[in-house]
Amino acid sequence: MVALDFLRDELVEFLGVGGLLELIRSGDYAALATWKGLTSALAPLVPLLLLIEVATAMFKRRFIEEAYGLTFLIYLANRAIGHLISIAAVGFCIGLLQPLAPFRVGFTWYGWIYGYLVWEFSHFVYHFFAHKVRLLWCLHSTHHAPRSMNLMVSNAHFFLEAPYADVVRTSICMLAGLDPLLLFAIMFIDGIWGAFIHVGEGLFRRGRVRALELLVLAPLHHRVHHARNPLYMDTNFCNLLNVWDRLFGTYQNARADIAIEYGITRPMNPNSFVDVYFGEFAALWRDFCAAPGLRNKLLYLVMPPGWSHDGKHKTAAAARREYLQNTAEA
Ligand SMILES: [Zn+2]
Ligand SMILES: [Zn+2]
Repeated sequence: MVALDFLRDELVEFLGVGGLLELIRSGDYAALATWKGLTSALAPLVPLLLLIEVATAMFKRRFIEEAYGLTFLIYLANRAIGHLISIAAVGFCIGLLQPLAPFRVGFTWYGWIYGYLVWEFSHFVYHFFAHKVRLLWCLHSTHHAPRSMNLMVSNAHFFLEAPYADVVRTSICMLAGLDPLLLFAIMFIDGIWGAFIHVGEGLFRRGRVRALELLVLAPLHHRVHHARNPLYMDTNFCNLLNVWDRLFGTYQNARADIAIEYGITRPMNPNSFVDVYFGEFAALWRDFCAAPGLRNKLLYLVMPPGWSHDGKHKTAAAARREYLQNTAEA
């Protein structure tokens, strides 16, 4: 019975229906007008879309196991410890840094705008360095390993990535004066959108949100972010608002003549849990050991993926430069 209870609790957590079930049980539907009621009703949205996406793929007889199997395994592995560390890290940053903020911004109309801009900036910072610092890329590369896009990919992360992301984002938001409750509200909205932008072509072929794209990052642009084509790598770091990508010059539209190739450039087995989860650490360790001198060894930890002590860099920036040069000459 204990095992059954455990499975039921895990299923409720995965589907995000805990709050909704509680609401139905209480029969107090007026609570839907409150923030808690609203979040309870919205939480199952993406899990529901994921089920529809899987059902659609099954109906069309696509390769379910390859697209969803490993990411689901990663989700289960992370459930074990990742969340607990992350919650502790957020609490620690709030306690430590909130008193240092010069002012406090709460639930006002300008608070939402300011809060979202600060949050999106903090997300940009975490995500940018996850791509540009080799050691941090070891944490983030698990998310980029899948060779196709679907909603389950949003659950595919190395278990230490969430604590890293949350420490960076919470610290910046606390120092910028965000009320922790406003931060949690923004995190909730961002969590839904952040999962939705992984919707696959099977369910939402074009992945565009049209006029909103002036401000909002569409699923198509996140598909570009997951691509390993030279022009697309290391672009579109934002989550919901694309403002910081536009400002820092990392915004990249999908081009009709360049089909997205999902995955990472390192030769790897995308169906091996060990390779997807630890492969990047192993590659870094090999470079670290082979590098001459302590300075070079340390540089491998902090320089971008693809950096080489012999100057023959294969970074995303170098690949993009080379691609743009070649197309300009052609
Ligand atoms: Zn990324
Ligand atoms: Zn993603």
